[in-house]
Amino acid sequence: MGCAGILIANNTSMRGSGSEMSQNLLDALEGWSSVKSAELYGIDAWGQGYFTVTDDGLVAVNLKNATGTVCVKISDIISGLHDRGMSLPLLLRFSDLLGSRIRLINESFKKAIADYGYQNEYRGVFPIKVNQQQQAVHDVVTFGAPYHHGLEAGSKAELIAALAYMRDPKAFLICNGYKDAEFIDLALSSLKMGLQTILVLETTDELSLILERSAALGIRPRMGIRVKLSSRVGGKWSESGGERSVFGLTPSQVINVIDDLRDVQMLDCLELLHYHLGSQVPNIREIRDAVKEASRFYVGMVKEGARMGIFDIGGGLAIDYDGSHTNFASSANYDISEYCADVIEGIMTACNEAEIPHPTVISESGRALIGYYSVLVINVLDAAIYEEWDYPENIPEPRPEALENMMYVSQTLSLKNVQESFNDALYYREEIQKAFKHGDITLRQHAAADCLFWHILTRIRELLPSLKVVPKDLLGLDALLADVYYCNFSVFQSLPDAWAIEQLFPIMPIHRLTEKPTRMACLSDITCDCDGRIDKFIDQHDVKSVLPVHTFRKGEPYMLAAFLVGAYQETLGDLHNLFGDTNVVSVQVDEDGEIEYVQELQGDTVGDVLSYVEYRPERLMEQFRSLAEEAVKAKRITPAERREILAAYDNGLRGYTYFEQ
Ligand code: PLP
Repeated sequence: MGCAGILIANNTSMRGSGSEMSQNLLDALEGWSSVKSAELYGIDAWGQGYFTVTDDGLVAVNLKNATGTVCVKISDIISGLHDRGMSLPLLLRFSDLLGSRIRLINESFKKAIADYGYQNEYRGVFPIKVNQQQQAVHDVVTFGAPYHHGLEAGSKAELIAALAYMRDPKAFLICNGYKDAEFIDLALSSLKMGLQTILVLETTDELSLILERSAALGIRPRMGIRVKLSSRVGGKWSESGGERSVFGLTPSQVINVIDDLRDVQMLDCLELLHYHLGSQVPNIREIRDAVKEASRFYVGMVKEGARMGIFDIGGGLAIDYDGSHTNFASSANYDISEYCADVIEGIMTACNEAEIPHPTVISESGRALIGYYSVLVINVLDAAIYEEWDYPENIPEPRPEALENMMYVSQTLSLKNVQESFNDALYYREEIQKAFKHGDITLRQHAAADCLFWHILTRIRELLPSLKVVPKDLLGLDALLADVYYCNFSVFQSLPDAWAIEQLFPIMPIHRLTEKPTRMACLSDITCDCDGRIDKFIDQHDVKSVLPVHTFRKGEPYMLAAFLVGAYQETLGDLHNLFGDTNVVSVQVDEDGEIEYVQELQGDTVGDVLSYVEYRPERLMEQFRSLAEEAVKAKRITPAERREILAAYDNGLRGYTYFEQ
């Protein structure tokens, strides 16, 4: 917690109104503090020391420069960008954090290798699919250079991007995915040019094409085989592994490939074994099991006479998104050093038993390296506040029976009959809705019953903390009674996995953290889609359906951030409701600890996103101009109005797709 003793980059603050100061005082008197906020949002658990809450209640990122670590408040970064005309939502990239993760995995493998006396080395490759953005690949190659960290390409486009960045003759370029002749030719040519390019067979059919292209170009290939392990893993990506996975060769197919290669005297071209269990494997036991099984494949392939020498364990190294350090899908019950130790020990044991040399170990970790790289900062535009419903003042007479019963439920509600009262309230509400549909009760009676129903629910929620055990049916009450905070972003564009596979990301306010968050909210984006919301949040013991937030004050900025969004989110995002890429800024600190905005990429304009869906902005302008001209001719608008309207249309086309203030 806190930034004590380290350089603070910039003192600009988003805070400080009089009312806020007195609220802070009140909170301090009540015993609330930034320490409590840090605990509430679990930042020390999932932030891994990269993110923290400062004593003055702001979220900060710890970045390194030549002299040490600098604690930079995210709100300062945003103010600086605001002054430069960049608006929210914004994706911040921190190259330094990526560098730190690359160092961590390489140093951890190095340590495990030394600890076990393993007789070979580790070489990482970064799978481009995890974040294909040019800057991400550039940063991986730059920070990976001291470790000969290479790249993995799973398609022709990824290979073409990778080839432009590969310079290091000691780094591997692993080619996975389906390969056509063009893909294979490029890979073989890069091998001839001095790169360590390895073509991994994903299916048996690929072999004949590789052999054909290799003969045509006169270049002997370096090959690997992706094997299908029987080991299955938990988590959201379990379909990538196991016997039913789409990719990979079965034991009999491996033997067929070996026999085919032997027949053409090319067993020396088979150097690598590869498997990929799936992404985000939360349980270390499953990782150990897979290493064990894959090691048996490796030993078998060596014994069959293949050259081998490289053992590629794929991806899967998980991130502890919720900070619980468990085998829950959003967590990991191990850390990088344990992962490295288990991999090295597993391979070494099998090789020693079989008396064969230890192979070079490759891992294709993506998420664990680049997850921390990006933070999405969004602003709250408005809030629908869940009212705490009072007992309705004038309940009209005469009262239908269901309404009388609902009043009785309210009068008799106590700690002893919470569940029963909840059931009764639901039942009588349904009765009233039915009666209203049949025209048996008036709109006014219906309204009174509705108020009464929400009043009962409000009181039930108040009673819940006093219950020893909260009945299962009542667990959803928080979500039902939550505020809705409308946020300036698109879930589909910026957090697609939150929508598609209910992945959890740590989300929290980035300021006002000395103030107690007194509201519970779910977040709605600005697409007009009911799926465009976030109502699942991290929790160290469970999944929360609401996020604690501060009171939204109209006219004052209130900013939240989603953390650990560097893996998979950027390119998987889509243009739902035509919300495009957000502004992106890469941030580092200079030698004096000042914020440096290294690279600024403007997000998509409206014209950009329209052109992605086959419109031509010039043509749109032309069509709209003719509509305006017709309106002038018909004297509905003046020529001066036409000029203004067309200027607004043109501005709209050039503007940001998100809400601008
Ligand atoms: N390697 C392969 C073949 C993959 O398909 C993937 C992604 O699923 C990865 C590596 C990266 O996995 P992770 O991001 O979990 O490290």
